[in-house]
Amino acid sequence: MPELPEVEVAKKTLSPCVLGKKINSVLVTRRQSIRTPLEEPELFAAWLKNRTMERIERHGKVLLFHLDGDMSLVFHFKLGAEVRCGDKALEEIGGVAINFTDGTSLDFSSFALSEFHLMKTAELDRLGVLKAGADPLARSFSLKRFHELLPANKQVKAALCDQTRILGIGNSWADEILWEARLSPFRRSGDLTEKEFSELYGKVKSTLREGIRLGGESSFIDGRGRKGRYKRVVHGHAGRPCPRDRHPIEMVKRGRTTFWCPHCQK
Ligand SMILES: [Zn+2]
Repeated sequence: MPELPEVEVAKKTLSPCVLGKKINSVLVTRRQSIRTPLEEPELFAAWLKNRTMERIERHGKVLLFHLDGDMSLVFHFKLGAEVRCGDKALEEIGGVAINFTDGTSLDFSSFALSEFHLMKTAELDRLGVLKAGADPLARSFSLKRFHELLPANKQVKAALCDQTRILGIGNSWADEILWEARLSPFRRSGDLTEKEFSELYGKVKSTLREGIRLGGESSFIDGRGRKGRYKRVVHGHAGRPCPRDRHPIEMVKRGRTTFWCPHCQK
């Protein structure tokens, strides 16, 4: 499931292929992913035709394509999707292709619950499409701000994944961050020492940045068709030895599935 690093990589790799381009036509072969008042693919396509892609933005795990005329195409990866600078036979695999006037395209395929919203840019906030949390890679995301955002009575993993407080960290990157910080996912935020808190803050930023640098985790495919090179350490690796101490990674299912090393994460 793409989280902050993967969506940031998608934004970076798609930008050169789509910015400034004018939409010529739209092909929808998977209509259930169009979740807008314009659910009819023909209406969706008509609204997009002749618009120019002006800006791409990432908001947490959401990708936004801002078009001229105050319209934005909002794409939720949900469990996963491939979004690529286009060269695929979409009729065969199912998805959405946005064709530009220069003959290139932006192709969305391999959807796992992924969906589109098309709406006025000015109404994005009012309609609640975007979560209100803070971006952990923003300059304004200081140690003090991090402190304010983590509720003392909540377990630290659940707090990291709460999109109303912090944007873009989900089940998988939270496990990686907590392993890096040597913290148990089940500690309460309020019980962390100043030193642990500050270490966690640093690992939130450095782990996400490393994920972006490596093109996302290894099942992710970027806008140019390249696979991510970040190899997860703990998430999804129950029973494998912890790279730090060889203790087997454990899996716990409490609502969400958590992977951790009880030996070195205290
Ligand atoms: Zn360990």
